[in-house]
Amino acid sequence: MNTTKRGKTPRQQLFFMPLGGVEDINRNCYVIEYGRDIVVLDMGLSFPDDDEYGVDYIVPDVEYLARRKERIKGIVLTHGHLDHVGAIPYVIEKLGFPTVYGREFTMLFLEERLKEHGLDKKVKRVIVEPKEEVQLGSLSFKLVPVTHAIPQSSSVRVKSPVGSIVYTGDYKFDVAPVSEPQSDYAELERIGDEGVSLLCMDSTNVYEAGKSPSETDIAGVLERMIKNAKGRVIAATFSSLGARIYTLIEIAKKHGRKVAITGRSMRSMLELLKKIGYVKVDETVLVPEEEIKNISDEKLLILTTGSQGEEMAGLSRMSRGEHRGVKIKDSDTVILSSSVIPGNQVPVQRLIDDLLKHGARVIHQSFMDVHTSGHGYQDDMKRMYELMRPRYIMPVHGFRSFIHEAAYLLTRWGAKRSQILLPETGQRFRFDPARGWEKDEKIPQRNIFVEGVLVGETDEQVITQRAQMSHDGVVFVWFDPDPQRTVRPIVSMYGVVGSAVQTSLVRDLESVIMRSIGAHQGHSVSDIRDHIYKAVTHAVEKITGKRPLVSVRVSGEAERQRSGGRKKGASSMKGSMQSRLYGRSTKKRRRR
Ligand SMILES: [Zn+2]
Ligand SMILES: [Zn+2]
Repeated sequence: MNTTKRGKTPRQQLFFMPLGGVEDINRNCYVIEYGRDIVVLDMGLSFPDDDEYGVDYIVPDVEYLARRKERIKGIVLTHGHLDHVGAIPYVIEKLGFPTVYGREFTMLFLEERLKEHGLDKKVKRVIVEPKEEVQLGSLSFKLVPVTHAIPQSSSVRVKSPVGSIVYTGDYKFDVAPVSEPQSDYAELERIGDEGVSLLCMDSTNVYEAGKSPSETDIAGVLERMIKNAKGRVIAATFSSLGARIYTLIEIAKKHGRKVAITGRSMRSMLELLKKIGYVKVDETVLVPEEEIKNISDEKLLILTTGSQGEEMAGLSRMSRGEHRGVKIKDSDTVILSSSVIPGNQVPVQRLIDDLLKHGARVIHQSFMDVHTSGHGYQDDMKRMYELMRPRYIMPVHGFRSFIHEAAYLLTRWGAKRSQILLPETGQRFRFDPARGWEKDEKIPQRNIFVEGVLVGETDEQVITQRAQMSHDGVVFVWFDPDPQRTVRPIVSMYGVVGSAVQTSLVRDLESVIMRSIGAHQGHSVSDIRDHIYKAVTHAVEKITGKRPLVSVRVSGEAERQRSGGRKKGASSMKGSMQSRLYGRSTKKRRRR
């Protein structure tokens, strides 16, 4: 769909629009459009909040792209983290299976995700070498190596006939990275020299002053801990931290410890790291989980997941004594080698307490810095800005507060307010070489929830109802609107109050319902139903202080419907069959 008016020669315009990654640090996805060509940068997912019960993931709303799918020239991936590639299996079919581009490691990681969904044969993937210029219609792109927490991460420069856009991807300028070269500063500078009309920059660590520490610094700290450990070392980290996995294995090798890997995600990541030669380890060092008991304690390092206290991860199961292969003992040293993600403090504390119960020594971030983030601190951001010298800047990969803070810092580093674009999900920006970047149309966005095999079928109301049920329970009411028949209403409830109180609460509610029916004689059935709903909700809240989900149905209604007693239009039929299920739907859910 071209925005130019009929009759005029269509003038090509460059557009940029985030579909995620700008209201939190996840679900990264950015759309670039020029003429009839569209290139998508990253296609990541988010994890649900604690109150989003039943949701596995949240993926970008790709409706806009789906309506223009024949124009999509490719999806370009910056690196193999789920917040950048994880949505592909859920949306790629809807987008007409466009070709996906990225470096080898990213493509291997994607292949694993696609295999899980039986899509690996259907999605065309092209491995791109660093600095290779790839033409996609009137647009072209180039990947520039940058250091991050996982190998082969890249910034990407997309060139259009009217200007270039650079998206940094996730990066930090690690001056001593492990097992791969430093970021390609020369290439970044060259791109800056050529001219950048828009720089989209990672703002994850905008509140961290100074320079991000190097992975090699962390290796030093970890090595001291492991060297001093008398018994087994159990190290937990994210399976997505490739650099940390490398570091831990190298230290084990150096100090004559064998390495046992527990957990599927950790094992699968190690396989990928080995495939590209990032980690070099063989069967003389790696031991299967079953061999753990045959190796003396001071010769063993167990690498596992669960540093955030995730319930089902390896370390959590060990801490609860539920892990088949590893029982924690008092001579163990447990190292949590990743920082606590905000919101995970309580499960991490519980995890540590449980480990201490077994007598293990536990070392985590608050004792020593065993974590470094894969994202640059303020000095790294400033350096990126200076290398690029862009005409416009858009902070991305951050919550709104991160983005505003980055905007503030940029002005301190010399940018003008008018050069900084504040992104929003679905907000399209338009570029004209003479006028610069300007806000364009805002494309409405929904939260697309993934639950099992369902994508986008769950709506906000369902999520709210689940939260309400889990918090306050649910009350079912069946009533007969005809007072002549004197059928008593039926009330049942789940998860509202303890059984001792429940009997009297049910009795109270029955009286409330009878009174409501009596008081509204002559009203329509649906009117009476509304009054009962209000009366029951009010009474439960007054008696218990809780606001459960309340369902009100007319007794025998379903039977009457089935026997065709009343003829109604299809939609109202559906409405009454479903009864009236009320929730606190007025609450506007926070966008992610
Ligand atoms: Zn990321
Ligand atoms: Zn990342």
